[in-house]
Parts: sequence; structure tokens; C-alpha cells
Amino acid sequence: MNRPICTNCQIEMKREQIGVVALYMYQQPPVPYKAIMVGKFRCSECNTEILAQFADNPFWECFHDEDAPNQNSDSVFVVYEKPTGNKVEPAISQVQIGGKGNIQSIS
Ligand SMILES: [Zn+2]
Repeated sequence: MNRPICTNCQIEMKREQIGVVALYMYQQPPVPYKAIMVGKFRCSECNTEILAQFADNPFWECFHDEDAPNQNSDSVFVVYEKPTGNKVEPAISQVQIGGKGNIQSIS
């Protein structure tokens, strides 16, 4: 089975965890609509982590009777339609507060 390649370090990524869940969200505020088993891989050099090698079909969908997988589980990774900015340092961190309480944003 082919493993993902880290394009930064040009080496194969190692599978760190099997049986993790990609939980797809839609709408605003986000609600789960499908869950797929997937592998979690990590680059041993730069520690970049990705999800890859998805199962062919979701094991849970929103029209099922049972609840969605628990988002707070360590083995469940939430997938949003758009970037949330949660992982990346947001631009707002560069906001400086002026002497008179003015907020100056650096754009
Ligand atoms: Zn790497």
C-alpha cells in the first residue's frame, strides 16, 4: 500500500494511527453529515500530520438513527467546508493597541 509523501522532506510518511474518523461538517453553525474511517499519517522529520487512505464508504451518515461519532474523541478529526483558522495563527494576532486604545490592524 502506498504511503503519502511529505513534499517538504521528500520521505514517506509513517502511519501513526489506524481506525481514526474523518467527521465531515456542513452548514453554519457546523453539524456533522458523514463519517469515514481513515488513516492518520505523520512525517517523522517535520511532524506534519495528515489523514489519508480513506475507506470507500462512510460508516455513518446524518440520516442514520444513531448519533454521530463524538467530536471530542482523540480519534475523531472534524473536517469543515472552509478553513476555520483554528490551527493557523490568525492575522488578528498582529493587531496592536495604540496609546489611546485605538486598534491598528496590519493588513
Ligand atoms: Zn516532512
